[in-house]
Parts: sequence; structure tokens; C-alpha cells
Amino acid sequence: PADAVTPVALQKHADIAMYRAKAKGRNCCEFFSPEMASVTDAAMGLEQILRRALEERRFELHYQPQFTQAGGLVGFEALLRLDDPDRGLISPTEFIPIAEETGLIVPIGAWVLREACSQLRRWLDDGLPATRMSVNVSAREIIGDSFVDDIAIMLSQVRIDPWLLELELTESAVFRNPVESTRLMQRLRSLGIRLAIDDFGTGYSSFANLQNLPLDTLKLDRSFLAGTVGSADSAKLMRTMVDLGHNLGLMVVAEGVQTEAQVAIVRGSRCDVIQGYYFGRPQPASRARSFLVTEFAETPVYAP
Ligand code: C2E
Ligand code: MG
Ligand code: MG
Repeated sequence: PADAVTPVALQKHADIAMYRAKAKGRNCCEFFSPEMASVTDAAMGLEQILRRALEERRFELHYQPQFTQAGGLVGFEALLRLDDPDRGLISPTEFIPIAEETGLIVPIGAWVLREACSQLRRWLDDGLPATRMSVNVSAREIIGDSFVDDIAIMLSQVRIDPWLLELELTESAVFRNPVESTRLMQRLRSLGIRLAIDDFGTGYSSFANLQNLPLDTLKLDRSFLAGTVGSADSAKLMRTMVDLGHNLGLMVVAEGVQTEAQVAIVRGSRCDVIQGYYFGRPQPASRARSFLVTEFAETPVYAP
């Protein structure tokens, strides 16, 4: 009785306490207090926005080009965009965590995968060259029993060769459950799908762990470039990280390349693939298409 005076409000407050418990890492107990309401109101609002966007098919994908050092187009990374009629553009860094927490990431992620591959198919049908499509996936998506089977079915329905698809997983997603993740990754890889570790260098994984994962690509986090750019140390660090990837037999992508100074560092680093605002922003398919028309498409394979 102290927490609400109507059943509806009581249920809402119980929900708020549940959100707080989940945010604290689950498996714990939280009691409602009025101060919680404002913070979680925003999260619950966003959950409604995500549900509605899914129902009304209002999610969109933008595509950011990736290049070799020589300037050849390697492929695109698909990045989710949400333009809400009331709130305007909402950043994925804001809504992906809510989608993960609420489980909505599962239907949203399935849509992203199908849409990215369908876009690739439309470009192929237009006679454009085959390039790779990279798609971000969350931990919560891959733990579902049917994830691997669903992807295999989707690829054959859309008629996309598995090696054109690369899935980007974060270190934290993989190492939350290393044994299970590794088994899953092996199954994906045996289908021919490529696998990348995203934002590498921000998590807690040890290099020893990295060695045991079935991987093709290492994406170095953009914080490697965002820090003390211009100093001799940042160039050395970058080179060392790239060599580390190569020594593990992986292709190395530098992301977040935005300024001339960063371009210089990346050029000196022997990394295989470059991605960043400097070379091309994420943009709608209609505009991303021009890269396929004007750039020579190639697929670099790093040979150790
Ligand atoms: P990410 O996978 O590391 O994607 C790269 C992010 O860096 C994108 O932000 C991209 O727009 C941004 N970026 C690219 N080049 C530059 C640059 O030169 N400078 C700077 N400052 N930023 C650059 P975005 O699109 O806001 O996405 C943020 C994150 O949200 C992604 O990071 C990814 O973790 C997540 N995300 C996006 N789309 C999806 C999706 O479909 N599914 C899942 N699970 N996560 C997604
Ligand atoms: Mg990514
Ligand atoms: Mg990244």
C-alpha cells in the first residue's frame, strides 16, 4: 500500500524495480523507490518506441564503406538507424542496450540480418560487384537455440553466399560465455560465415583467449586512434596491435578513421582494412551504392 494506490501503478512500480534489478546484473532483489521512476521512465518509453518501430517497420539500415589501403572497396558495415516520429533520431548506442535488456534485440537483430543480406542481393541483381556485408550481433541473439539454423535458412532464401556475410561480435559478448560462444562460432564458421571481434581492446579478453576463437577479423576499437593522435606512441601502439592480429592470422580493420592525422597513423600500420568518416560515413543504401559503382571492388585476403 505504501508503493501505490491503484493496481496499475503498483504493477508499473514493480516493473521499475525489476528494470533496476536487471540493470544491476540480474539475479538480485530491488525495492521500488520514487527516485527510480524518472530514470526508468525513459527506458520504458524507449521500449515502447522500439516495439512500435518494429511493428510499423520503421527501422532502417545505413551502410558504411570499408576500404583496403590501396583504396579498393572491401564491403560495408550495416548500422541500425531509428528515426522516431516523436523523438527524432535515436542513436543505437542508446537503444541497443534497451533492446538487449528487453529481449527485443532478437526480432530486431533478425530483421537487420535479413535486410542487410537482401540489400546485398538487390545490388547483385543490379549487376553490381559482390562485396562483403558486416552485421553487428549481440550476445543475446546468438544464445538462442535456432540462431545458426535461422541464418542458414535466411541466406538460402535471400540467395547470398555465406562468405559474403561477416558477423561482428564484441569481446564482452563472446567472453561472457566462452565455451558456448566458441561452439556457436564454430558452427557459424562451418557454414562459411566470417566472424569478427568488434571494438577490440576495450574489453577484458586476454590474448590467450583470442587465440582459441574461430575468427577471421579483428576490428581495433577507435579509441586507439582517438587518444593521443600525432604522438609517436600512438603510431607504435597501432602498429603493434595490427601485428598482433596478423600474427594470429587475422585480417585487421582500423575503425573510426576521421582525421588526416589518423589516416597517417593507419597508413603506417599495415592494417588491411580502413573504415571511418574520413573515407565514407554510414549512409542509406541509395547513396552507399555509388561506392559500388565507382570503386573497384576487391576482397583482400590476409596471407600470413
Ligand atoms: P560499432 O559496431 O563499433 O560501429 C561503429 C560505430 O562508429 C558506428 O556508430 C559508426 O557510425 C561510428 N563511426 C564510424 N566511423 C567513425 C568515425 O570516423 N568517427 C567516429 N567518431 N565514429 C565513427 P553507430 O552507428 O552510432 O553505432 C554504434 C554501435 O551500436 C555500433 O558500434 C554497434 O555496437 C551498435 N549497433 C549498431 N547497429 C547495430 C545492429 O544492427 N545490431 C547490434 N547488435 N548492434 C548495433
Ligand atoms: Mg561493428
Ligand atoms: Mg566497433
